[in-house]
Amino acid sequence: MAWFHRKEDNIKDDQKKSIPDNLWIKCPSCSEILYKPELKINHSVCRYCKHHFRINSTEYIKLILDDGSVKEVFKNIISVDRLKFKSEKRYSDQLKIAINKTKDLEAIRCFEGIINNYPVVLGIMNFDFIGGSMGSAVGEKISQSIKLADKKKVPLIIVCASGGARMQEGALSLMQLAKTSANLAKFMENGGLYIPLLTNPTTGGVTASYGMLGDINLAEPKALIGFAGPRVIKQTISQDLPDGFQRSEFLLEKGFIDLIVPRSELKKTLSNILNTLS
Ligand SMILES: [Zn+2]
Repeated sequence: MAWFHRKEDNIKDDQKKSIPDNLWIKCPSCSEILYKPELKINHSVCRYCKHHFRINSTEYIKLILDDGSVKEVFKNIISVDRLKFKSEKRYSDQLKIAINKTKDLEAIRCFEGIINNYPVVLGIMNFDFIGGSMGSAVGEKISQSIKLADKKKVPLIIVCASGGARMQEGALSLMQLAKTSANLAKFMENGGLYIPLLTNPTTGGVTASYGMLGDINLAEPKALIGFAGPRVIKQTISQDLPDGFQRSEFLLEKGFIDLIVPRSELKKTLSNILNTLS
């Protein structure tokens, strides 16, 4: 005979306490669990390992430009599927999906604004828009931004994030390397100040053009920056690659970039550069 028995059968002990998904995120670098509202206050930088999460143009604007000074420009320049390109998906459909997903019309947004009393033209790329790839519209928006900065005699800053050329536009995409570089050369001949900020990741055609052509090349910590990917390079040279290869810190050591700027110091650093060189 049992000494005791359960009075009710339906006591449930298998109900897991649910944690709302939208409040916590795991840091991909150090695996610590981060509280999202706190992460946001911290400019989306991990408090443990300083990993810089990707942020969008709205957040960069808040970070860099003075309140109330922001005016978006060249918003009407958008991609057109000239080649009627189709692989797994039609390029025209990919564009619609990207616009829907990001709520941006292209892989870059351009602005006029002020950084601590210094007027600037600012371009901000969006990696979530077809890998931040540079098609004709991105090239044209950058070229127009360069011309605007030249006309207004103000510095140009571009926050770069890109997988490279937009292959769906074939040779038209590759032409943007020459176009943006030529426009930058003219701007700099006229005494214009150009500062790219390379964020994670900046690769391919963007690194091979306006990404690396700054008077001062800035990068965020630990950003992947390169032309070809490490696997392709490893196969080509048949050698193991050194630790930290193609990261900001490695490139700083080799002289490819001039300064690594944590997000918390970005506005102050830009403002100091503008104060010194403008
Ligand atoms: Zn971390």
